[in-house]
Amino acid sequence: MDDPRAYAVKSESGGNGPVALWMHREHRARDNHALLFAQSLAERRKVPLVVLYGLAPAFLEAATRQFDFLLRGLRETSAILESKGIPFLMRLGSPEEVVPEMVRELKVSALVMDFDVLRLKRGWMKTVADSVHGEVWEVDSRNTVPCRVASDKREYAARTIRPKIHKRLSEFLVEPPELPEHPFSLKKRPETASFEEAFQYVRQAPALPETNFVPGEEAAAERLEAFIGGELDSYGKGRNVPTNPGVSRLSPYLHFGQISALRVLWEVTARGRDRDSVAAYVEQLVVRRELSDNFCFHDPDYDNPGCFADWAVGTLEDHLADDRPYVYSLEQLEKAATHDDLWNAAQLEMVRTGHMHNYMRMYWAKKILEWTPHYAEAMERAIYLNDRYQLDGRDSNGYTGVAWSIGGVHDRGWTERPIFGKIRYMSYNGAKSKFRIREYIDAQTRPALL
Ligand SMILES: Cc1cc2nc3c(=O)[nH]c(=O)nc-3n(C[C@H](O)[C@H](O)[C@H](O)COP(=O)(O)OP(=O)(O)OC[C@H]3O[C@@H](n4cnc5c(N)ncnc54)[C@H](O)[C@@H]3O)c2cc1C
Repeated sequence: MDDPRAYAVKSESGGNGPVALWMHREHRARDNHALLFAQSLAERRKVPLVVLYGLAPAFLEAATRQFDFLLRGLRETSAILESKGIPFLMRLGSPEEVVPEMVRELKVSALVMDFDVLRLKRGWMKTVADSVHGEVWEVDSRNTVPCRVASDKREYAARTIRPKIHKRLSEFLVEPPELPEHPFSLKKRPETASFEEAFQYVRQAPALPETNFVPGEEAAAERLEAFIGGELDSYGKGRNVPTNPGVSRLSPYLHFGQISALRVLWEVTARGRDRDSVAAYVEQLVVRRELSDNFCFHDPDYDNPGCFADWAVGTLEDHLADDRPYVYSLEQLEKAATHDDLWNAAQLEMVRTGHMHNYMRMYWAKKILEWTPHYAEAMERAIYLNDRYQLDGRDSNGYTGVAWSIGGVHDRGWTERPIFGKIRYMSYNGAKSKFRIREYIDAQTRPALL
């Protein structure tokens, strides 16, 4: 099959059983190239198409907040799939075990799976692929220019991947077709877990209240519409101002794959009125976001200082013994109990809403470096907090953002200063000169919210 988004993992011939899509990153029925690819395989073979889902009992630092968001979205997606004649089959357990189980029971002849870059996921993908007697494909429906197509190596910085992405962008910026009804149906449906069982199953995750983000494909599309009709116009000027609402707040939906980045790009570029804002948005949604997948895909040390450049490790080591006027425990950080009211407000925003503004994420991570005895521990703490509380955590963007903030990944050396060495520094006074920090602090710490 000739689709540059699809990567052939294995090409054994596998009989005439159904084609299956193992959905594990792109949780949507619309604008899903992995699903469309799997469907065209099934149509060619004149066999049923099924979507398989393995619900892991734990995933990195995910809490009930993120599992509920995932499941509520998935329930909506499963209904769309069923209405198109595509059964959605879910089992509770590690995907490495339950997906091969379903593959065997259904005698799947070809398996298509979402592309992913995280180590844990790639391990699962290998085990699942090994269990299939038939073709196995990996389809990148996350990146507009597929990760493998954009570059075959770890890119040095945004400036090195940008021209590569832009060179191929028009080839991939094509509106995805509607998902057709599938003409071949499954004779015998294997056992599948209900959503009630699934919601019960994820109660074993650490408990965290849900947020105001409404999950699902429908809600994601509504957020996109509201963004295009509103905040997008001020994105160019306002994206780095935490008190200005001019950001899309689409990251939870993009993270869970409840909306396609290609759909967002398609609508924004076609309908955005302020061209500077559109260009600034494309830079984040396409260049920065795809740089993150490139980084995690090519560097398995994306979540530890093994991914830092030599200059960054050298400068951080040179400053390890520097006096640190403030040192906090993880517990103090988690409880937003530092001397810095701006940092505390950002931490509270994340804990309470499941989403922190981009500018504050940079400030927040850099202060963790400043207040932790060792940079490796600072990285661990930032990742733990980000993955536990953000709806969009456990994402290549998160690991890259933390590595950029603490280890200068994709950045350059700056003027040397205590603790940070040549790593870019951010200060309270710098934030004060950029925006009305009091307004932000007050908004996050209003008693009614605490
Ligand atoms: C320390 C730190 C941690 C971060 N953790 C995460 C995370 O866990 N998950 C996550 O999705 N993003 C993370 N980011 C990147 C960025 O802050 C968020 O994507 C953004 O704030 C999400 O809000 P939004 O959707 O309103 O963004 P918008 O400004 O509206 O941008 C649109 C989309 O572009 C992408 N994007 C925007 N900024 C970046 C960026 N700097 N790098 C890569 N992609 C970007 C996101 O997919 C985002 O949804 C982190 C950044 C830092 C510095």
